[in-house]
Amino acid sequence: SLTAGIVGLPNVGKSTLFNAITQAGAVSANYPFATIDPNVGIVEVPDQRLFNLSELVQPQKTIPTAFEFTDIAGIVEGASKGEGLGNQFLSHIRQVDAITHVVRCFADDDITHVSGRVDPISDIETINLELILADLETVTKRLPKVEKLMKQKDKDAQYEYEVLEKLKEAFEAEQPARAIEFTKEQMKYVKSLHLLTIKPILYVANVGEDELLEADENEKVQQVKEYAANEGAGVIVVCAKVESEIAELEGEEKAEFLDELGIEEAGLDQLIKASYDMLGLATFFTAGEQEVRAWTFKKGMTAPQAAGVIHSDFERGFIRAETVSYDDLMEAGSMAKAKEQGNVRLEGKEYIVKDGDVIHFRFNV
Ligand code: GDP
Repeated sequence: SLTAGIVGLPNVGKSTLFNAITQAGAVSANYPFATIDPNVGIVEVPDQRLFNLSELVQPQKTIPTAFEFTDIAGIVEGASKGEGLGNQFLSHIRQVDAITHVVRCFADDDITHVSGRVDPISDIETINLELILADLETVTKRLPKVEKLMKQKDKDAQYEYEVLEKLKEAFEAEQPARAIEFTKEQMKYVKSLHLLTIKPILYVANVGEDELLEADENEKVQQVKEYAANEGAGVIVVCAKVESEIAELEGEEKAEFLDELGIEEAGLDQLIKASYDMLGLATFFTAGEQEVRAWTFKKGMTAPQAAGVIHSDFERGFIRAETVSYDDLMEAGSMAKAKEQGNVRLEGKEYIVKDGDVIHFRFNV
């Protein structure tokens, strides 16, 4: 499954945030396919629609879908020089599908900052530079091979060479690959390089507990937002310390605590949703009397592929997908009513599943 890796300089609040994630996470029996790894935190994806569906159907069980964060430890500075733990840091980033970059915006004289002062942009650049240098090396290694192919009059090599040169120029100007525009054709070559700076990134501005409400006026948060906008990246504001307290609560208690704090939605919930989005993930539902359940699929998946998320047998034996959109079903008030109104469709193998589809798969065993 797709995962977002949490990175950041030492002492910025990564562990505090990751602990909040594992605290809130329901590892348990619901997610037997989840990775068993202490560096992976599983969180349930908050989705009001699931609970509304559950109210409608009154099943025995309601099961949210889950999402994984990976805690990426290791030494950041000098990582691209390939020394021991630094190397490990880069190889871990290579394995994740998106980057969640925690940035310290809180001031606390008791907590040492690695570079001696709280400067979010300089922190971001420190990490990003290591990733850019690692990508520059990837490109520099590839170039002589492609030049050789060009001498053999290989047409594709000419295309690839142009892409590599474009990337090299950007990296030398300390720009990440994600900031550059490529044509669809060029993107094929970019993808084949497995670059680190092409992965989508989300910045998490970690503010102090007393700054949570005025985050918009926080100068450091503003700096992070500006920086992110230039890259086309998103920003979530959290207070990791408060999140670890929220994560211990559920339901009513959680709602009351958020109310006391004066915030609408827990930072962690915002972070989960934004990460889900960044990875191109969406949710479909199954709604039976036994169980109403949310499932994660990748946008663009066909009906059989989405069936495969539930079980590989469902994909192999796929016949059709009885599908109704969440909105249509809620408006009808029951599955029978939705059928009467002609809103339950029989979709075949080519159907592209949409976010919010409520599906009943028919399959051969
Ligand atoms: P890591 O090295 O990035 O994993 O950072 P930690 O999560 O261990 O946090 C470093 C220190 O900063 C710890 O003492 C945390 O309690 C503290 N810290 C983390 N988040 C906050 C915060 O939002 N406010 C304050 N005041 N301290 C925090």
